[in-house]
Amino acid sequence: MCKESEKVKIETFPKVLHIEITTMCNARCVICPRKCIKRKNKSMSLDDILDIVQQGWDMGIREVHPHLLGEPALHPQFVELLYALHKRFVGIHIVSYTNGSRLMDPQIRKAYLDTCGRVTISMDGARSSVMRKTRPGVNPFIVRKGVKLLINERGSNLSPQIFARMTVMPDTENDKELFNRVWQCCDGISFLPLIRFEKDTNVTSSLNQRQYTEAIHHMCDRLFTSITISVEKKVILCCCDYNASVVLGDLNKQSLSDIWNGDVITSIRDRHQKGKACEIPLCATCGYFNFV
Ligand code: SF4
Ligand code: SF4
Repeated sequence: MCKESEKVKIETFPKVLHIEITTMCNARCVICPRKCIKRKNKSMSLDDILDIVQQGWDMGIREVHPHLLGEPALHPQFVELLYALHKRFVGIHIVSYTNGSRLMDPQIRKAYLDTCGRVTISMDGARSSVMRKTRPGVNPFIVRKGVKLLINERGSNLSPQIFARMTVMPDTENDKELFNRVWQCCDGISFLPLIRFEKDTNVTSSLNQRQYTEAIHHMCDRLFTSITISVEKKVILCCCDYNASVVLGDLNKQSLSDIWNGDVITSIRDRHQKGKACEIPLCATCGYFNFV
């Protein structure tokens, strides 16, 4: 059921740019809708990424998340990309999420330490037996060792912040306490409720209705504050749109600024503002909206 939404201020430019630099991944996480993806696995060229970030930078964006679906560190020029972003856009806040599988590579750790404002490592579980079940394809020993090395090499520096993240589901619930203990050396630990993709993953959330309500936003602000670009250079609805089913514009033909101010996104924002977001199929079944 749709609810009348609160008014959300439309930013003159998005605060955050999410850009899918690669759809390649070496994991098969149970929470991931990858098996439902109809798009091809590929990586965006370095030139295209920098060109898009430049457009965002010119609009005023100062935070970039170079990932969407896929493990960003598998991009063939990942290290080069991080340094290029850092050097060209002085002061940009780079936020990187990773499954941690490539943290044993010293060049990748150094690039994270030299360029990022925050690195979040997703590890669904504290015990190896749980991680193997929730994140097949990724070696839990390697991930944990890589994260510890990253933390040690950062030393007393305050940047980047290093966060450990776990999705809460029946398989991981009993690991919460241990996860807190193991990763107290991080700057932050987040327990993410499983509020998306349930239909596509067959993983049932362990949260009840009340916990959902407490855990999620009361109004989806995605379309008002951030912009999401798929590896095909399409501007898509948000990070939930892993199949790029709602295209707001095409950067192969339009500018980022024109898309942000364009008719398609305006009409979708309008439906959100008028409490008619359920007219958009993806929003109608999205956890952010459905459980408030
Ligand atoms: S690491 Fe990320 S993209 Fe890869 S399978 Fe897991 S959730 Fe999906
Ligand atoms: S799918 Fe969900 S997160 Fe995305 S715009 Fe719609 S309500 Fe917001």
